[in-house]
Amino acid sequence: MQYGNHREKINLIRQNKLSLQENVKKFLHKIKEKKHLNAFNFVFEEEALSQAAEIENKIKEGKAGKAAGMVIAVKDNISIKKQPMTCSSGILKNFEPVYTATAVQKLLDEDAIIIGKTNCDEFAMGSSNETSVFGAVLNPHDTNRVPGGSSGGSAVAVAAGLCDASLGSDTGGSIRQPAAFCGVFGLKPTYGKVSRFGLTAFASSFDTIGPFANNLYDLTLLLNIISEADEKDSTSHTSPTVNIEENGIDGKIKLGLPKEYFGEGLNKEIKSKIDLVIKNLPYKYFEFKEISLPYTEYAIATYYILTTAEASSNLARYDGVRFGFRSKNSATLADMYVNTRTEGFGKEVKRRIMLGTYVLSSGYYDAYYKKAQQVRRLFKEDFDRAFSEVDIILTPTTPTTAFKIGEKTTDPLEMYLNDIYTTSANLAGIPALNIPVGSDSNGLPIGMQLMAQQFDEQKLLATANLINRYL
Ligand code: GLN
Repeated sequence: MQYGNHREKINLIRQNKLSLQENVKKFLHKIKEKKHLNAFNFVFEEEALSQAAEIENKIKEGKAGKAAGMVIAVKDNISIKKQPMTCSSGILKNFEPVYTATAVQKLLDEDAIIIGKTNCDEFAMGSSNETSVFGAVLNPHDTNRVPGGSSGGSAVAVAAGLCDASLGSDTGGSIRQPAAFCGVFGLKPTYGKVSRFGLTAFASSFDTIGPFANNLYDLTLLLNIISEADEKDSTSHTSPTVNIEENGIDGKIKLGLPKEYFGEGLNKEIKSKIDLVIKNLPYKYFEFKEISLPYTEYAIATYYILTTAEASSNLARYDGVRFGFRSKNSATLADMYVNTRTEGFGKEVKRRIMLGTYVLSSGYYDAYYKKAQQVRRLFKEDFDRAFSEVDIILTPTTPTTAFKIGEKTTDPLEMYLNDIYTTSANLAGIPALNIPVGSDSNGLPIGMQLMAQQFDEQKLLATANLINRYL
């Protein structure tokens, strides 16, 4: 039995037209059938089935939570107690966290079913999901192409119908870019809206947990469930619940089109698709304005200085003493540290630790790290200025559609340039989402990004909902 969103699913279960157990079995079967996509690191078959039986009863007794029976996949850098968590890294082989991430706990409290942990780039570093110790994830639209990264498995799980929705993490685009490459909705919330407790730190002042879904109703439902201030994350904050049916804007919605996002480097088919979307939006509801975000050209440089600095410090804890893997062949303690990190981490993670250590070193701190921190403030000011003129900023999510597996692995800079349109939102801490708007001539999905002022997910999602009607 088909359903379009979670509300419809619940109704079908209540009317005995859908069995939750059968539904979970179907997902488990599909996960096996699509094993070649490599979307999951771990599947929780037994747990999911036993939860289904229990929750089905609760739904029928009218005692179930808001996400009752929603089948959710969780990125493998988010902890769930007594389940493996590897961050797709050799260094966390056989590691089992001793607590559950707040975002996951909130979903469980609302009777969601967690079906497994999804593949990702190692420690969420990457734009193609090729740096995982479990191997690359394949794009379901063309298996010769990448699904995007780093939350590639979470995007594929939703796009290929392996679950109802999923959680990912976004430090510089890792939810929006794979959502764009796979043709699903993906939201990076405002920094601090969702607790980071239980999310493995990559760059702590950038990291956010957010949802993937194939419709805006489910995306918003998940966001509302997982967001709230949490005493275990001092940067978390309680903000209003989102209702996508209410846009709360008097008059027309002013959409800002930053000229820096539509220039050189943007694939022609993406540009014409987004131009067409804009053309089809009715003037009755929308007004357009060309704006400028002049610091955009510094986004990649600033992002990669600051996030590698934070990563080099965050990843110092993996030393073979406390977590996961320990090298067996060491004569001294110092050797054990070195061998564990040499054998446990992959190439991209090592590159970032070295870059980060370099920009934090006493000789270069002022020239790189301190300067980049100052530039970060300018990004925030860029957006504040823009949001004094417009309600929402509309851009492409990525400069190209999904690229071929192996196409960019030898050139890290080429790979980093993929994040050109997504990193600014993380530098400024603002919310942003990907809306799938169609496909290119090869049948590859095209994504459009909307950004809003900090903690204005209400306007962001309500606008997305309105725009979605005219696609
Ligand atoms: N692709 C970006 C990077 O490699 C973003 C990663 C992320 O958002 N986790 O850093």
